[in-house]
Amino acid sequence: MLTSMPIPFLDVRGLADSLRAELDGCWQAVLTHGRFIGGPETEAFELRFAEFCDSAHCVGVANGTDALELVLVALGIGPGDEVIVPANTFVATAEAVCAAGARPRFVDVRPDTLEIDPDAVAAAVGPRTAALMAVHMFGQMTDVDRLAPLAQRHGIALIEDAAQAHGARFGSRRAGSVGIAAGFSFYPGKNLGALGDGGAVVTHDAALADRIRVAANHGRVAGGHHVHKVRGRNSRLDTLQAAVLTAKLAHLDRDNERRRVLMDRYRQRLPDGCTPLAQHPRAESVHHLAMVQVTDRAAAVAALDAERIGWGVHYPVPCHQQPAFADFADGPLPVAERAADTILSLPMSPTLSIDQVDRVCDVLARAGLP
Ligand SMILES: *Cc1c(COP(=O)(O)O)cnc(C)c1O
Repeated sequence: MLTSMPIPFLDVRGLADSLRAELDGCWQAVLTHGRFIGGPETEAFELRFAEFCDSAHCVGVANGTDALELVLVALGIGPGDEVIVPANTFVATAEAVCAAGARPRFVDVRPDTLEIDPDAVAAAVGPRTAALMAVHMFGQMTDVDRLAPLAQRHGIALIEDAAQAHGARFGSRRAGSVGIAAGFSFYPGKNLGALGDGGAVVTHDAALADRIRVAANHGRVAGGHHVHKVRGRNSRLDTLQAAVLTAKLAHLDRDNERRRVLMDRYRQRLPDGCTPLAQHPRAESVHHLAMVQVTDRAAAVAALDAERIGWGVHYPVPCHQQPAFADFADGPLPVAERAADTILSLPMSPTLSIDQVDRVCDVLARAGLP
């Protein structure tokens, strides 16, 4: 019976399948010219993605975590510096700060949107604060109207972590165009996903983009294969992944629009006890996740499991409570801690049907949430 078919949390295989012919073409083209690193597809993707973000420069790198770390290092942020990070982000934001040698300073989030709380940011700024990680969580841009002037007033760098927000807007501004630089991830599950790992830095600053490009390619300067100007590393975006990303980028606005339609349906059909996160009135989310807050997560999850409907929790343990970051745990951060117990991510991907959303909502309605 159709109604008892499993509903995946995220169907990355289905998404790739819908572009099968185009992706086969990418593979053939790259196989034919043989420039597997630094091929023409990489530069073509960088140009298109910078344009997509309303920015000037894009540097393809190996993954989103590297993108953030490379930005921090290129800005000279490291040992002795503090970087403000929302407590409920994916650990990668904080990992990048630590990898650069700086110290993450975790702050609490707003109870309605679960985006970083600008008041908490203002309170956390101190003499060692060098940067603010403006993480656009779950597809919604964080309140850059408040955070950008705040960062400017205190003379700290605003860096966007846009790993969950390809194409999102805040007012007229696109994710990636607001900060001094932004880090993107193309992990397969992101709104723009590669067939493997990938990432990018986007910035208006040509000199910063150059420094990052050199650092990400063994410190090589353009045109000098054996000239290593600085001690760099290897963090490059493969030609093949760039080709795939260019093909998928052409469909991203359509896919994001589809996510919005699905999220609207969730909003209409979800039962009491299951409340979608609030949207800032100026934010146009790309709904990376269909996040709700539930009154009884155990009951909701049991009902979904019984019907083989996928779900997730993003994230069950806030960063400041993770063992890895015990050295930086200056809590309590009550909003993030409370939210960790009530959040639930429902199936979301552009391949999902309205009928499937309705079925998820019906199952939750029968779960008997208080
Ligand atoms: C996915 C993600 C990253 C890291 O990206 P990778 O490509 O997996 O390294 C960073 N920040 C946030 C908020 C993410 O969701």
